[in-house]
Amino acid sequence: MNGLPPGSVIGILGGGQLGRMTALAAYPLGYQVHIFSPEEGPATQVTPLRTLAQYEDEDALARFADSVHAVTYEFENVPSATAEFLAARVPVRPGPNALAICQHRVREKQFLNDAGVGTTRWGAALSAADVARWVSEFGAPCVLKTSRFGYDGKGQTIVRSVDDAARAWTVVSHGRDGVECIVEAFVDFSMEASVVVARGVRGDVASFDLVENIHRDHILNRTIAPARVTEDVAAQADAIAHTVINALDYVGVLGIEMFVGRDGRVLVNELAPRPHNSGHWTQNGCVTSQFEQTVRAVMGLPLGSPRRLADAEMFNLIGDDVLRVPELLTDPNNHVHLYGKAEWRPGRKMGHVNRLRF
Ligand code: AMP
Repeated sequence: MNGLPPGSVIGILGGGQLGRMTALAAYPLGYQVHIFSPEEGPATQVTPLRTLAQYEDEDALARFADSVHAVTYEFENVPSATAEFLAARVPVRPGPNALAICQHRVREKQFLNDAGVGTTRWGAALSAADVARWVSEFGAPCVLKTSRFGYDGKGQTIVRSVDDAARAWTVVSHGRDGVECIVEAFVDFSMEASVVVARGVRGDVASFDLVENIHRDHILNRTIAPARVTEDVAAQADAIAHTVINALDYVGVLGIEMFVGRDGRVLVNELAPRPHNSGHWTQNGCVTSQFEQTVRAVMGLPLGSPRRLADAEMFNLIGDDVLRVPELLTDPNNHVHLYGKAEWRPGRKMGHVNRLRF
C-alpha cells in the first residue's frame, strides 16, 4: 500500500496550534487540509477548507466525512461519539477505541497495567469516602484528579492526609458525588520525561528520543532533548513506548508522559493521542518532525526517520514571553514558531522556540 495520493485531504478535528502545525506539515507531502472546529483558531488560519460547527452536529460531520480522505484529531477531548460517527464513514486515525482509553484516566491506567506497563498505584473514586480509603491505603500525599477533561494540571489537587480527603474532593468534583475521579499515590520522581512515538498502518513503529520536561505552574515550560538519563532509563522508556502503541493497535502519533523514579524505574503518567508539546523540538532537531510523522501515519505513508540531528531545547512562549521574539531571533540557533494568536494573555501558549545545540 502506498498511502493516500497527493491531492487527498486530511481532516483534522480541532482548531488549535497542534492542528496548525500538522496542517503545515501536510502541504509538502502534497495534501490538502480541512479543519473541523467549533471556532476559528490557529489551525483555521492556514487552510481555506474549514467547517465551523459543534462536534455534536451530525449534518456537519457527515459533510466533513464526505470531503476528506482520513481524519485525525489534535486534542483528546473530542467526544468519542464524534469519532465513532466519523469512523463509520472514513478512516479515523488513531481510532475511537484509542481515543476512549486516552481521554479517561481510570481506563488509561487500567489499560497500561493490563499491558504490563508500570504506573503509580491508583484507585477509582466517586466520593470523598473513596478518596479517604485510597489515601489510607497508599499513604499521603496522593494526587486526586478528575478522570476526564483534565489538562495542564487543571482538575487536580494534592491530598495531604486522610483528613484532607473531603476538602480535596470538593475542589475537584465541585462537591458532587458520582464525578469519576482517580486517586494516585504521589510519585517521588527525579525527572518528568516523555516519548513521542508513531505507528503506521502496517504496524511499523518509530520513536523519538526520550526527552526531559520541566513544568512551571503546571504548564510545560522547557523540554531538553535528549533527556539526561542513563542508557537503562532510555531503554526502559523506549520499550514502554513500543509496548503501549502496539497494545493500542494505534495509527498516528502518541505522546507518553512518564516519571523517572529516584530508583531509576520508569512509570507512565498519561497518554496523549496526538502530537505532544514535548515533541515540538523534532521540527528542527530530527530528520522527520512529529507533525510530518502524524501526516505520514494518518495518510498511510511509510514513517520517516525519527533520528536526532542535533541536541535541542524547546521552550514555550507563554503569555508576554511572546514580546521577547525580536530578541530571540538574534540567536542564530533559535527557531521561532508562533501560533498566530492575536492577543497574549497570562498562561496562554503563544508559540515556542526550538534552540539547537551543536
Ligand atoms: P497530569 O495532568 O496527569 O499530566 O499532571 C500534571 C502534573 O502534576 C505532572 O506533570 C506532575 O508534575 C504532577 N503529577 C501528576 N500526577 C502525579 C503523581 N501521581 N505524583 C507526583 N506528581 C504528579
